[in-house]
Amino acid sequence: MKIHPYIIIGGGASGLMSAILLAQKGKEVLVLEKNAQIGKKITISGNGKCNITHAHITPHRFHSQNPHFAQNIIVEYPYIKGLLESLGIFTHEGKEGRIYPMSQNAASVVDILEYQALHLGVKIEKHQEVLDVKKEKFFTLTTPSDSFLAHKLVIASGNLAYPQLGSSDIGLTIAQSFHHPIIPPLPSLVQLTSPQKEIYQLAGYKQIATLTLYCNGDQKAQTTGDILFASYGVSGLAVLDISRFASLALSHYEHCAIKADLMPHWSKKALHNLLQSTLPNDKPIALWLEGFIHKKLARVILGRLKLTVQTTQSLNAKHINAMVYELKNFEIEINGTQGFKGAEVAMGGVDTTTINPQTMESKLLKNLYFVGEVLDVDGDRGGFNLHFAWSSAIQLARGL
Ligand SMILES: Cc1cc2nc3c(=O)[nH]c(=O)nc-3n(C[C@H](O)[C@H](O)[C@H](O)COP(=O)(O)OP(=O)(O)OC[C@H]3O[C@@H](n4cnc5c(N)ncnc54)[C@H](O)[C@@H]3O)c2cc1C
Repeated sequence: MKIHPYIIIGGGASGLMSAILLAQKGKEVLVLEKNAQIGKKITISGNGKCNITHAHITPHRFHSQNPHFAQNIIVEYPYIKGLLESLGIFTHEGKEGRIYPMSQNAASVVDILEYQALHLGVKIEKHQEVLDVKKEKFFTLTTPSDSFLAHKLVIASGNLAYPQLGSSDIGLTIAQSFHHPIIPPLPSLVQLTSPQKEIYQLAGYKQIATLTLYCNGDQKAQTTGDILFASYGVSGLAVLDISRFASLALSHYEHCAIKADLMPHWSKKALHNLLQSTLPNDKPIALWLEGFIHKKLARVILGRLKLTVQTTQSLNAKHINAMVYELKNFEIEINGTQGFKGAEVAMGGVDTTTINPQTMESKLLKNLYFVGEVLDVDGDRGGFNLHFAWSSAIQLARGL
């Protein structure tokens, strides 16, 4: 049986970039991909536009139980930009430093990476799901239809997030079989669920808000941005941003809560004055509130206040204070996430203290390498996860 110098498991972002960079150094590479198509996750990234990297790369945007690891391998933005351009992927900067391909089309990124890989002689076998890896003199990989031998093996099979597109635990299983500890994976950049039925009544309502996450009374995180209420709880960009901390906290605490300031651009005093000064003589309270806030929110807030009065003429300063408090401290109980199927990324993975950051090689087994999301490194929303996938591939190729 042929002994392949390099086999890469997974034709996603990190696997494809690793294959290209190794092939550029003259290495003979075979990529085994279980899907009929490579780079499926890239094609849906950034809502199909692919937020390919970020213009402001700083270590604090990457998370791990071993933060020094990511700091050691994260490549500067201009280098990634140059690399992408050298492959034919030109970029433009969107809001807040987010970088997209100029084509605004994630599928074009996959087309170009696949073309480059094949052009450099990389062999890509699709429909090859690696089920098992053994190591004697060489690595033996088993798929449902074939066996492969490899001198060097690169694990680029991703993590558990978004299994609909091919993610699997094979990388973690292989790592474990070679005695690598695993930081338990958890969903991140994910929607949060709430047990409060009244929250479901707000489904479809979207608002810019400042969100503060509390667990057992301790503040865990804060961010400002979109919150989108849903039939299960909350979503929206600010919720995704805070979800990493919620996901982690919920693995220790049973209940967490988000306090949402739904009027972040209004001080309490200004809001109080606005409501007080516009109080009509005789109008249904819900209708008066609809002049300022969404109808669904007005209904839920009035439900929370349990007002016995119906019309504005019966409202006093105490009632107004209570309304202002609700608008500035709207509490949403959180009891879970929408799980890996809703998560853009998994936190946790192969413990990076067992990986050499200069080469991405296992410190426990020679000729075994790990790149991308299978490792215990996750990035913030905004292009940081693909940035890590590219960076780890660059580091691998530098070391070989
Ligand atoms: C909806 C969504 C939107 C996202 N948007 C962005 C964004 O805009 N910007 C950003 O930076 N990040 C984004 N991400 C995250 C980013 O896509 C991932 O972090 C990144 O693709 C991880 O790359 P990877 O190569 O490590 O893993 P993957 O891209 O998951 O690739 C792993 C590959 O391995 C294959 N595989 C798995 N098991 C096997 C097996 N047993 N045998 C053979 N092959 C196997 C899989 O099919 C897959 O092709 C998004 C993720 C999702 C789900």
